[in-house]
Amino acid sequence: MPELPELAVLARQMARELRGKPIAGVDVRQPKCLNMPPEQMINTLSGKRVGEITSKGKWLFVSVEPGHTLLINLGMGADLLYCASPSDGPDVYQFRVDLDDGTGFTIRFWWFGYVHLVRTDELRSHAMTSTLGPSALDPDFTLEAFRKLLEGRRGMIKAFLLNQRNLAGIGNAYVHDILFGAGIHPQRPIQSLSAAEIDALYASVRRVLEAAIHSGAAYYEKDFYGRPGGYTEDQWAVGYREGEPCPKCGTSIVKIKTGSTSSFICPTCQPLNPHTS
Ligand SMILES: [Zn+2]
Repeated sequence: MPELPELAVLARQMARELRGKPIAGVDVRQPKCLNMPPEQMINTLSGKRVGEITSKGKWLFVSVEPGHTLLINLGMGADLLYCASPSDGPDVYQFRVDLDDGTGFTIRFWWFGYVHLVRTDELRSHAMTSTLGPSALDPDFTLEAFRKLLEGRRGMIKAFLLNQRNLAGIGNAYVHDILFGAGIHPQRPIQSLSAAEIDALYASVRRVLEAAIHSGAAYYEKDFYGRPGGYTEDQWAVGYREGEPCPKCGTSIVKIKTGSTSSFICPTCQPLNPHTS
């Protein structure tokens, strides 16, 4: 499933290819993905110009000027692919945009996703994106902001990190190495975390996500050019490495159930009760 690094890489590549270009045509093959009738979306988009492209959490925000934003959620995964010419691109897709200069892009959801068009001045009323917490790599998301976010919160730290209303963009792939990097067991109650552990966790969030972006995001997702990301299995520290030695201490990495998700941890580096052991 795409997480923050995959979306950030896509947004950057899309901006490079599409920004500033007028929209010449839109083809909708799965109206269920939309938040309005296909004709209305096609009419609204046609002739407008692609502006800034950013990501927040698991959403892409494509500014369509003047006045609109196209919101794309890739769901469990999708091929969102650049088309170099009108004849380029896959035959199977749910949504295609063609631009004035002949380039464009297609979206094929693996399972289901969303393409919503909203007026930019009404973005706040788009419930699915307006309830998202701060993006984990937003410049405004400082250590101070993270400390405040955790203040007075209950529950387990992993569930907190995965809840997109708290922090947007972390899913059940990168979270393993994020917690390992801070030496924190996924089931630690938030209230048991020391100030030093919170600081370490903040640093680990940024370190892991930035490293993934730097490598071109996860190998199991495709970028805008259909290439797999460069962040491979070799780069995981403990994620998906059950039975292998911990890179810090050599203890065998274990896979445990944590509520509805599984977690990969080093039982030595990430004790559940660090203050009593
Ligand atoms: Zn270890």
